[in-house]
Amino acid sequence: MSASARIVLRVPKVESLPGPCSLCGGLRGVRTHGGWTCASCEWRYGDVPDADLPLPRIDVVYYLRFDRRVKIGTSRRPKQRLASIRHDELLAFERGDRNLEQQRHRDFAAIREGGEWFTFSTELEAHTTELRRAGEPWLLYARWLSGALRAGTVNG
Ligand SMILES: [Zn+2]
Repeated sequence: MSASARIVLRVPKVESLPGPCSLCGGLRGVRTHGGWTCASCEWRYGDVPDADLPLPRIDVVYYLRFDRRVKIGTSRRPKQRLASIRHDELLAFERGDRNLEQQRHRDFAAIREGGEWFTFSTELEAHTTELRRAGEPWLLYARWLSGALRAGTVNG
């Protein structure tokens, strides 16, 4: 069962968090046993990701538009990576590593302009629009991070 389905079944009352979520900056949350859970990324409000530990590794394929071209690349540190690439807009994230990136490069080979840059065709636009149905890219990333952190907490 997906995380979102679980939320729906609980029919939680979404209220304002006492302060912004430390993981995604979200301001809305639901009361859980003895605390709050962020409504956006499901991080437990008040928990601070341990600064001494590396954040979980989340590989993403990113779609970065600059003018009428889109760079399809992969990174496990998208914040730092995207800051170093000139672009107009982050179109979408897709969870996956270099294998998925290579697959997408093959999928869109016909509109490849060179390197990792592709023409922003209607086909590519449809693909990124579909990916965005799951959520705004950084919010999705926060959810993946939150999920991995919670999984780590359970295992530890
Ligand atoms: Zn959050």
